[in-house]
Amino acid sequence: MDYQRVLDEMLHVATPLTHQGAVADYIPELARVASGQFGVALCLVDGTTFSAGAADTRFSIQSVSKLFTLSLAYRLEGDALWRRVGREPSGTPFNSLVQLEIDHGIPRNPFVNAGALVVTDTLCSHYAHPSLAILDFLREISGAGDVNFNSAVAESEAGHGHRNAAMAHFIKSFGNLATDVDAVLQTYFQHCSIEMSCVELARAALFVANHGVVPHGGKAILTPLATRRLNAILLTCGTYNAAGDFAFKVGLPAKSGVGGGIVAIVPGQLAICVWSPTLDEYGNSVAGVAALEHFSALTAHSVFQ
Ligand code: GLU
Repeated sequence: MDYQRVLDEMLHVATPLTHQGAVADYIPELARVASGQFGVALCLVDGTTFSAGAADTRFSIQSVSKLFTLSLAYRLEGDALWRRVGREPSGTPFNSLVQLEIDHGIPRNPFVNAGALVVTDTLCSHYAHPSLAILDFLREISGAGDVNFNSAVAESEAGHGHRNAAMAHFIKSFGNLATDVDAVLQTYFQHCSIEMSCVELARAALFVANHGVVPHGGKAILTPLATRRLNAILLTCGTYNAAGDFAFKVGLPAKSGVGGGIVAIVPGQLAICVWSPTLDEYGNSVAGVAALEHFSALTAHSVFQ
């Protein structure tokens, strides 16, 4: 497969779309990001990397971080995690509160904000410095030692994070947060504010394509079974309440974020990351989804073979 040609074609298809949709502005600091940008990077499990466009530009990973916090929490908690968070697509926006009351404080899945807050809570229980543990994990698996938080983004979100704060307190009222609400929120805002490039994110996600093992160095993050399950949750819940449509168009496990990044996995083969800041109504990058749809069409990579 000539992946460089594939990525160049993705860039060609995506570029005219990079002004469609809108940059996330409910976190004021994210509204400052310029539209008109697109990057893509692909890492094979043997480490070979291809890229096109702004693949080395760092952006706010936002909810893409939830793929990595879930991996850490699943490794630490095992299947006990599923007593506190579900595995069903929510069908509601990522920051919705409505289901929580009906579900007695058990979030539908680990990728809606409510579920991610529970996941972050487990990390707050395990680590003295949970934000740093998450950052160190990302530095280790991406091989980029200077990956960091963007404190302006974290503070901007904290200053406008009333919905997440409401959610965390609500979950706490059901007894499903073990640690301090403010500490959970602070850790959550911090890990969402981490900035990485497409190349760094594709590399970091390679263990999800490689049966749970980081190819460079051979460290096992998750068991092969847990990795298959993680991929299943990515497929069904990873792209907000457009996950069904994304599965239809792209057919790959993926996690998106409101910074415009999307990481997708071809199990056993590769990880690919696209980035373009303008989003559709669900919160997925317009150009990013279109580029991944084109990737799937060109390569026939899909879990639905
Ligand atoms: N930090 C963002 C929030 O909690 C993440 C949203 C996202 O990327 O889905 O609203």
